Amino acid sequence: MGDTVQQFYAVKAKIAAAEHEARREAGAVTLVAVSKTFDAADIRPVIEAGQRVFGENRVQEAQGKWPDLKQAFADIELHLIGPLQSNKAKEAVALFDVIETVDREKIAAELAKEIARQGRAPKLYVQVNTGSEPQKAGIEPRDAVAFVARCRDVHGLAVEGLMCIPPADENPGPHFALLEKLAREAGVEKLSMGMSGDYETAIAFGATSVRVGSAIFGSR
Ligand SMILES: *Cc1c(COP(=O)(O)O)cnc(C)c1O
Repeated sequence: MGDTVQQFYAVKAKIAAAEHEARREAGAVTLVAVSKTFDAADIRPVIEAGQRVFGENRVQEAQGKWPDLKQAFADIELHLIGPLQSNKAKEAVALFDVIETVDREKIAAELAKEIARQGRAPKLYVQVNTGSEPQKAGIEPRDAVAFVARCRDVHGLAVEGLMCIPPADENPGPHFALLEKLAREAGVEKLSMGMSGDYETAIAFGATSVRVGSAIFGSR
């Protein structure tokens, strides 16, 4: 068994243990395996080991490897977890099954237009900049609930969840707690939070999916 597959199994086991410890139901947390910068040859063994949900942060990079893999494995679910430019909305709607980074009015409008045009509706999450970091994507926490409502009422988009990336140099717990609170207020069920360094913590705070890259595929 290759290192990557072994690491994949180890992450799956830690997720199961964290679910148990948090008194969550077994299988309550979906692993999104983040394969950015890795090519199809690195990804394939993980698919063959049973993983079906993957995350990529660039539309163009994903277009280079996923159409073939999706053809080969029909039940792949591909998540966009990186910033979306409005001129890439068309490609993103065509390729991704979940777009986790809706964070402004213009993107919501473009996505609504493309979803109507293509007749293909990826699931949508709103990204929240829980640390209000100027360089980071995501809507400000104080605007998040109203933005989810506007996605629904103005653009006709069904938002299923919220996503966050806590500041790298802070304890992530309060950020996960804030995201959970905002999701409750906004009336959405899914919480995408937790990466290689903190996914077990995120599970304790209610994550319904964790985005894990380097702990599976190695450092980038
Ligand atoms: C790269 C990335 C991840 C995975 O990070 P790791 O620390 O490698 O697990 C998760 N979420 C987003 C948004 C990313 O860009």
